[in-house]
Amino acid sequence: MVRAAVLPAVGAPLEITDIALPEPGPGRVRIRLAAAGVCHSDLSLTDGTMRVPVPAVLGHEGAGTVVSVGEGVRHVAPGDGAVLNWAPSCGQCHHCLLGEVWLCASALSGVGAVHARTADGTPLHPGLNVAAFAEETVVAANCVLPAPDGIPLTDAALLGCAVLTGYGAVHHSARVREGETVVVFGVGGVGLAVLQSARIAGASTVVAVDVSPEKEELARAAGATDYLVASATTAKDVRRLTGGHGADVAVECVGRAVTIRTAWESTRRGGRTTVVGIGGKDQQVTFNALELFHWGRTLSGCVYGNCDPARDLPVIAEHVRAGRFDLGALVTERISLDGIPAAFDTMIAGRGGRALIVFP
Ligand SMILES: [Zn+2]
Ligand SMILES: [Zn+2]
Repeated sequence: MVRAAVLPAVGAPLEITDIALPEPGPGRVRIRLAAAGVCHSDLSLTDGTMRVPVPAVLGHEGAGTVVSVGEGVRHVAPGDGAVLNWAPSCGQCHHCLLGEVWLCASALSGVGAVHARTADGTPLHPGLNVAAFAEETVVAANCVLPAPDGIPLTDAALLGCAVLTGYGAVHHSARVREGETVVVFGVGGVGLAVLQSARIAGASTVVAVDVSPEKEELARAAGATDYLVASATTAKDVRRLTGGHGADVAVECVGRAVTIRTAWESTRRGGRTTVVGIGGKDQQVTFNALELFHWGRTLSGCVYGNCDPARDLPVIAEHVRAGRFDLGALVTERISLDGIPAAFDTMIAGRGGRALIVFP
């Protein structure tokens, strides 16, 4: 038995309880978690904004040590460090063959499976594939990336969602070039990773926008040159900070209609907006036809940073080892499994960066 945070039903509080994991079957890997990040998507699964089969063990950003492997698993062995990848790719579908592995048609095909049981035998589903809110988990082999050398597993835990997403939003989706101006909406775990990635890309002006005045220090430490508390004049304020033109690039990490619209309005004519935040169906964003023509802007969705984790993780790891990317700077709180509900409350209140569960 291992301890885990179980979501019994959508809208119900998480239960910290013991679960039983099977030995890994063919093509599966058992991992002892070192740390797991609490992502906004976990909250969205809890409140029903996003849905997966329940009861489920949530948590999709983590790293740990391989305990045992099933038949046919060759890329990792017991004792190896591992980073969890919640969006594995099949290599065979239309998108995988196009090289767009982040859009793999079967990325979430594992979420309906039963990966564990509670003490009374209730079957549990693995949240977003990897069920990282647990001392141990059993996952498909293609959800396991070898941990990069020279990075503590507790830091590497953040790579699997916040960092790949933030880095990819800047480098693959928005394709920020040296000297460009960037505005980032939402200074949470992903927003902080976007800020650091914009700095790595050589952005000149980097404006961070958040509803909370308390995040200014965090944002500036991550590379923001300017900080704005969101208001009715945010788009105008961004134009003022970017030579009167508007930013070359906006990255929206909130997932709300109002911030998506403001992000778009904050860019210059011909500017690019990347939407990383995951919002609900009720968030309708409207544009009139004339302004779409006049401004000549681009608005892009972004899934998992448009990253190929196998390709991008080693590149990001090199930035980490060289001191250009500070993983620790994303973490504002270190907690135990019991601290997840409070971490959700902090998120709902719009405070903090990443809360990181560190396992004993
Ligand atoms: Zn996430
Ligand atoms: Zn595929």
